[in-house]
Amino acid sequence: MRAVVYHGSHDLRVSTVPDATIEDPGDVIVATAATSMCGSDLYLYQGEMPDLAVIGRTILGHEIVGEVVAVGSDVTRFSSGDRVTFPFSVSCGTCPMCSLGLTGHCSTSGKAIYGFRELAGSHAEFVRVPLADGHLRHVPDVIDDAAAVLLSCNLPAALIVVDAADVHRDDVVAVVGAGPTGLVALQLLTTRLEQPPFVLDRVPHRLDRAASLGGIPIDVETDPVADIIGEATDGLGVDAVVEFAGRGDAFDLATSILRPGGVFSGGGVYRVETAHPTSLALLFANDLQIKLNGLANVLPEIDRAAAAVTEGIVDPDGVFSHHIGLEEIPVAAEAFSRRDDGFHKMLVTLDR
Ligand SMILES: [Zn+2]
Ligand SMILES: [Zn+2]
Repeated sequence: MRAVVYHGSHDLRVSTVPDATIEDPGDVIVATAATSMCGSDLYLYQGEMPDLAVIGRTILGHEIVGEVVAVGSDVTRFSSGDRVTFPFSVSCGTCPMCSLGLTGHCSTSGKAIYGFRELAGSHAEFVRVPLADGHLRHVPDVIDDAAAVLLSCNLPAALIVVDAADVHRDDVVAVVGAGPTGLVALQLLTTRLEQPPFVLDRVPHRLDRAASLGGIPIDVETDPVADIIGEATDGLGVDAVVEFAGRGDAFDLATSILRPGGVFSGGGVYRVETAHPTSLALLFANDLQIKLNGLANVLPEIDRAAAAVTEGIVDPDGVFSHHIGLEEIPVAAEAFSRRDDGFHKMLVTLDR
């Protein structure tokens, strides 16, 4: 089968690899119809998490919609021909963590994530889904491929982070990081708030997209952030920040604009800067509430995420900017990494 294989930092190669096959009675094989690349894949692509990718072996990708083409003998919920998606992480549905709804922390799978280490991801014609009955999900026909791809990660993750921010209608809220998940969160927030959310980023075309989706853009490189937030909040700071950058400077920025008692709800992946110094004194002095949701437990939220699409709250066209084929993933990944002008997220469609 054709697949995109990781060969090191900024080096993806489309090649022919052995077909995905049933290895365990609980496996399902899915033929990929569409996939994408998540912001968290960039950490692998950019070589920032070398321990999570195997050179010459790892196939990236944890977002998918596709069709079941083979089922193991123990699988009861799926048959060939079913249209399906999966959450980015593998979960069994029965272990203590899954029973708590913490599906991203499944003890049976060992918190396995598609496209990380040895578990092949969706940048391939076919994907092996282990423990399929535990986490594979049917996709109703009313959800098109673009929206279905968002159900694997970006949309339920944004929902979790926005929910955790616990906003009220008259709150002033800021989104830090206007990548794909930040843009989805912005769409969710605009329906929950009377005032448009602020959106902070340093990439002009991302801010333009955020403005078109109803946010108030603030360029952290050129705009006086503290003055703008101060003016909008009588000098107090915002009630809540939802954050999707996953970097120390973004965390510091987010906490600096919160009012006393405000909520920081993080969806960014804080794994690269493990030694980042944070002022606990500032967090303490302002009674800030810090909620981290980076290893998001998206499986329990997929139905609500799908409803956000069918109810028109989230429009996938607000997020996807490029439609490509599998063979173009290496070029598109570099454009995504460079934050090329006009590049937000790719929808990869596989012809067969
Ligand atoms: Zn993701
Ligand atoms: Zn489990």
